[in-house]
Amino acid sequence: MPILNADLHCHSVVSDGTLTPEALAARAAGNGVELWALTDHDEIGGQQRAMAAAHAHGMKYLTGTEISVTFAGETVHIIGLGFDPEDPEMKRGLQETRGGREDRAREIAAGLAQVGIQDAYEGALRYVGNPELISRTHFARFMVDSGVCKDTGDVFRRFLTDGKPGYVPHRWASLKHAVEWITKAGGIAVIAHPARYKFTANEEYALFTEFKAHGGRGVEVVTGSHTPAEYVKYGETAREFGLAASRGSDFHSPDESHTDLGKLPNLAAGLTPVWELVADRIR
Ligand code: AMP
Ligand code: MN
Ligand code: MN
Ligand code: MN
Repeated sequence: MPILNADLHCHSVVSDGTLTPEALAARAAGNGVELWALTDHDEIGGQQRAMAAAHAHGMKYLTGTEISVTFAGETVHIIGLGFDPEDPEMKRGLQETRGGREDRAREIAAGLAQVGIQDAYEGALRYVGNPELISRTHFARFMVDSGVCKDTGDVFRRFLTDGKPGYVPHRWASLKHAVEWITKAGGIAVIAHPARYKFTANEEYALFTEFKAHGGRGVEVVTGSHTPAEYVKYGETAREFGLAASRGSDFHSPDESHTDLGKLPNLAAGLTPVWELVADRIR
């Protein structure tokens, strides 16, 4: 197979991105993407629009999502690719996963109020494109625009991560359920940005082992938050666990994301690209 410019990880206004599916498709195509997937957090409401826009720009499309999972007390993200977006079990599972976000957002706002940041819930809501998907990113945008912090990274560091005033522990889907929803809907499950998790070597080994046991097929190797050294490290992990490798920018916004759609290095030779496993699901 010739080298393909595939970008299989990004977010629209249907979750915590700032662009519409149509604007993302135009940007991806403009950057030379040939195979694209929109992977909104816990949500597949943008899939039809994304696929239509991909085709209008001459790109091939894979259905996508990024499911929030709780594993060993940490939040892990599992990407689904090439599933049937009408699968009822998958739709129900995602809806359930989205379910706790509203209450969590009110608790985040209560934590922020205690350190003098008032009305953050109402503030964050102004940035939300999908009422079922209020995320920490929306709080971060509100706090940057209202002058509390200089950028979203600063908001996360000072307010929204473990031990900080706006951090609320949350129980997401189980690893088993997320992998099964995707797989039973005809897609493949992929561990997103593995270098981002604060796991010990043993915990990381357990994540990959259990993921495989549940039917997981791939790992994101080349992605916006990985360093070149991590491309090498997780390429080796892919080989060690017999997983295919994925490539995706994790693009959220022209103002926030330092890696643009389609602008990542290619996967190293010798890795099996995830799109070879779902070749029959490419539309
Ligand atoms: P949530 O699903 O509400 O917990 O929000 C998670 C999202 O927050 C991720 O998908 C990222 O888009 C964003 N995020 C997480 N950590 C950071 C960070 N350190 N800096 C900027 N954005 C972050
Ligand atoms: Mn996000
Ligand atoms: Mn993620
Ligand atoms: Mn993402």
